[in-house]
Amino acid sequence: MVDTHNDVLSSATMHGLNIENDLTGKTHSDIARFKTGGIDVQVFSIFCDEAFGKYTAFQFANIEMDSLYALVKRNPRKMMLVTSPALLQKAVRQKKLACMIGVEGGHMIEDRLDYLDSLYRRGARYLTLTWNNSTAWASSAKDETSSDPDTGMPSGELKHKGLTDFGRQVVKQMNEMGMMIDLSHVGEHTFYDVMKTTTKPVLLSHSSVYAICPVFRNLKDEQIKAVAKNGGVIQVNFYSGFLDSNYQRRRREIFQRHRIERDSLKQLSWQSYTISEWLAKKYAGEMEALRPPLSLLIDHIDYIVKLVGADYVGLGADMDGIESLPQELKGVEDFPKITKALLGRGYSEKDILKILGGNFIRVFKANTKNVLQAK
Ligand SMILES: [Zn+2]
Repeated sequence: MVDTHNDVLSSATMHGLNIENDLTGKTHSDIARFKTGGIDVQVFSIFCDEAFGKYTAFQFANIEMDSLYALVKRNPRKMMLVTSPALLQKAVRQKKLACMIGVEGGHMIEDRLDYLDSLYRRGARYLTLTWNNSTAWASSAKDETSSDPDTGMPSGELKHKGLTDFGRQVVKQMNEMGMMIDLSHVGEHTFYDVMKTTTKPVLLSHSSVYAICPVFRNLKDEQIKAVAKNGGVIQVNFYSGFLDSNYQRRRREIFQRHRIERDSLKQLSWQSYTISEWLAKKYAGEMEALRPPLSLLIDHIDYIVKLVGADYVGLGADMDGIESLPQELKGVEDFPKITKALLGRGYSEKDILKILGGNFIRVFKANTKNVLQAK
């Protein structure tokens, strides 16, 4: 059982919450609940937003990685840092949580290939080429579609769309090192530019289906087909707002009711997504009614399977990076409910194993094959 996107390091650990403790009710994840949920492999997202730039983003990414190193070091019987498919198998055999690292946001390499190399050497096995912010070398879905998910307003001007020459160098170096290219959050121009450039299968570490929920960073049918053709995998995101097409509108209505608070937080120069998170927490009662049924999450998985088959889909829940989960899901402890729901829809055990992790492991292996070995 593999989950390819969890934000607990940036949303909890970096703020002083310790996942060695029971954080039920405070977070979606902690070490004990990973076990309860039957998770064998967790990719921890290394994340900072665009407020971090030159001279700060790379450093912050390293500090965040240090926090995971420390957790693994303090819990050698429960956790293992995993940087290769062989180590992944070893951790699973020893019944330890296989901890992998994914860096979410190309801005953390600060336009430097040596920083990319350094993140790889410290254990990062995927880089999400952009977060919502574009880099100088790759445009994001948010900027390409000019829509701010929190306000619904157009976002900043783009200097270029897709990959630049440097962006293609980043992709080439990742292919050579054996680092997976994560295309969640990137715009369609960047997506197709990568497809033309990469020699390895791509990963979408936490993305859902546009046909069911047309939001700026979900995947259109043609993109899903392109991923299948490339041999990659789409790990479905559990965020209510990426599953249910009514969610964003109803959420904006709630925030509109509390606009005086929102505006005063804006005066404090908070980022719009931080304000949204804060409001969602404060008005949890109102947000509760917006949660879609768990069956809608299964619909997204089902849609991809019906379009291209069961070999190109998996789970990238985005736990602790999202304010709302479908009904019945409280946190990482509830992954078995997804297995149960898939069985209920008549999925075979073979296909379920692929969705729960087999497909991701295939992509991970394909990326690490025939690479120049890092020392
Ligand atoms: Zn994300």
